[in-house]
Amino acid sequence: MTMITCVSPVNGEVYAERPALSLDAAKDVVARARKAQKDWARRPLEERVQLVLKGAARLNEMADVVVPELAWQMGRPIKYGGEYRGFNERSNYVASIAADALSPMVVEDSANFARRIEREPHGVVFVIAPWNYPYMTAINTVAPALMAGNTVILKHASQTLLVGERLVQAFVEVGVPADVFQNVYLDHDTTSTLIAAGSFNFVNFTGSVQGGRSIERAAAGTFTNLGLELGGKDPGYVMEDADLDAAVDTLMDGATYNSGQCCCGIERIYVHESLYDAFVEKSVAWVSNYKLGNPLDPETTLGPMANKRFAKVVREQIADAVAKGAKALVDPKLFPADDGGAYLAPQILVDVNHSMAFMREETFGPAVGIMKVKSDAEALELMNDSPYGLTASLWTKDVERASRIGRDIETGTVFMNRADYLDPALCWTGVKETGRGGSLSVIGFHNLTRPKSYHLKKVTA
Ligand code: NAP
Repeated sequence: MTMITCVSPVNGEVYAERPALSLDAAKDVVARARKAQKDWARRPLEERVQLVLKGAARLNEMADVVVPELAWQMGRPIKYGGEYRGFNERSNYVASIAADALSPMVVEDSANFARRIEREPHGVVFVIAPWNYPYMTAINTVAPALMAGNTVILKHASQTLLVGERLVQAFVEVGVPADVFQNVYLDHDTTSTLIAAGSFNFVNFTGSVQGGRSIERAAAGTFTNLGLELGGKDPGYVMEDADLDAAVDTLMDGATYNSGQCCCGIERIYVHESLYDAFVEKSVAWVSNYKLGNPLDPETTLGPMANKRFAKVVREQIADAVAKGAKALVDPKLFPADDGGAYLAPQILVDVNHSMAFMREETFGPAVGIMKVKSDAEALELMNDSPYGLTASLWTKDVERASRIGRDIETGTVFMNRADYLDPALCWTGVKETGRGGSLSVIGFHNLTRPKSYHLKKVTA
């Protein structure tokens, strides 16, 4: 029997373990989800929406368990109180637009014809979720998929093994039928085998580019609908008219919050030469204020990375960049808790360039590179010099300029004077190796349903 194991970054010990389902047991889960789907979809939309909202509310009531458990599983300091703000904002927003988003598009309703496009649920939706924001990333698909009348099977990351269990517990306790929303523990082979057998009508995968490729390969030829929300290397660009303090505050938070483990975290910053020195100085002071330590200590503001193997990647990228001429500006002595393992001090590198993996590959840690630029054209070229395309964060007072530059930026989202945020009213999507599809917003609902056309002729004469 294969065991799925969560090794805690807090102390390097096994925190939770669950047996992976056999292929036959996993097929039973899919069969139950398929059997339950039609009845679920026949319930009034408002009833489904209310049940999902009640499930989300129930999870809020479980904060005393959920918040420390999250710290143990992936290192988020308890000081931040879990992920409830984003989790609630997203659940509530999708609930508020569900009726509109799923309403038929009426083309004609005359004496002679009724012509319309209705939205039908896909059927069984499979959600494969990552550990970095384990509740928020899962709810992006779970909430609208259930509201739209799909049944959902959730496979969470090994690192956040208990998150799927908690979500399903909360939803089932408020009355969502057990077969409508199921949590599974699966190894990669069983996951791929199920997908390759066409078991699901929609698969939403959030995770690494490498993982996304495996899922796409498994689905090849099955015509399964896929949403692939993958990695990023998101840039910030600070123009000469930017509000410097606000830019430092938001971009440094975007680079380091959650130990830099955010898909839309800021990984590289281009600053106009007139603000460069001041920006760098203030940024170093900003990150030096972090208190790195045990995430269960209420004073800790920066926890360990979720796994020491993730910290190893960051350390190697930094060492490689420094060997190639980069300068590390944050004094590691300020962070005595840095243990060479999962506990990693934040870092800012200057004298970096795009020949360094640190400026091109996803770092996914509390480290960021800053480069000086002379013009919009230079900044644009550097921002687009990336295999990824999730978000870009522009800092200026000029909305027209941000919109103009935004049109040439190869990302799914363009921010001005903010960063590292998912607006549930907008479509969360990426280009290039960041994947394809889109979640949240009306478009998220459309992706979780299929169009069905009705052409009804009322008179035969
Ligand atoms: P990951 O290693 O790809 O894992 C993500 C999920 O996929 C986990 O549940 C994992 O299960 C599963 N998985 C990975 N490879 C698989 C395979 N071959 N077959 C079946 N399942 C597979 O990614 P991660 O390290 O958890 O997450 C960090 C990555 O996610 C970063 O690259 C980040 O940028 C990206 N991300 C993107 C977004 C977005 O919206 N674009 C949001 C959040 C995160 P196991 O844990 O059991 O291996």
